[in-house]
Amino acid sequence: MVIQNCYWCENEANSMEHVPPRCLFPEDKDVKRVFNKTFREHLITVPSCDEHNMQKSNLDEYLMVTLSGRVGNNGLAYIQTLTKIDRSRKRNRKLLDIENSDVIRINDKEFPVLWVNVDTQKLNHSFESIARGLYYYENSKSFKGELTIVSKLFNHMEDPDGTEYNIRSSEIIEIERRHWNTEVKGENKEVFSYQFSPFDDFKTQTLALNFFEGIDVFVILTELTAKEIEDAKSRLSFLNKLLFGDLQLKYER
Ligand SMILES: [Zn+2]
Repeated sequence: MVIQNCYWCENEANSMEHVPPRCLFPEDKDVKRVFNKTFREHLITVPSCDEHNMQKSNLDEYLMVTLSGRVGNNGLAYIQTLTKIDRSRKRNRKLLDIENSDVIRINDKEFPVLWVNVDTQKLNHSFESIARGLYYYENSKSFKGELTIVSKLFNHMEDPDGTEYNIRSSEIIEIERRHWNTEVKGENKEVFSYQFSPFDDFKTQTLALNFFEGIDVFVILTELTAKEIEDAKSRLSFLNKLLFGDLQLKYER
């Protein structure tokens, strides 16, 4: 048997990991009657070590429950919320940190909604894993570099600056994305699709992840090393100071 390396750390892999996690894709028994098709064909897998297999860390269930129940998702996510998510939550009552629950009415139909305190750290780990998995899948090598996750999903009342940053950055990326001209991929786009931007001049590209046709998460992948990023930052701040700040005077003397 050929030994494969983990999509994340390049250690020896001993299992295959679904990207994104398989549980995100509705089970036939829950949706076949309504949609008359399966959403579990042609799922992406990459080789993984134990440490980087999300299924083993139970993070994939948290991701599924958090993402499916969002307002603004498509009907598939809604059915998933009433079936699979409901089963998960009955099995594990502590899965979600629920602040409040309510029912909203749209056109005489009732929709249960939950206000959930999202664990950003858990979600970030999942999104990082998905981004690294897709990078490996597309490039047949693991990603080396720095990775930043941006999403409007991360709004926290106790972190107004972070929320503002995520909203503003998402909006900028959404505008840039209209000019990417790259393929939107995914065999089951009702559940998940993704798109890589072209590389920019700074060895950087953005990956757009979309869940249930409602949630966008952007992952900025830069192949610059941490040192190169620091150098670029200090060059930029030097330029800023030179153009707009106190350095100007010193150079005039
Ligand atoms: Zn690994």
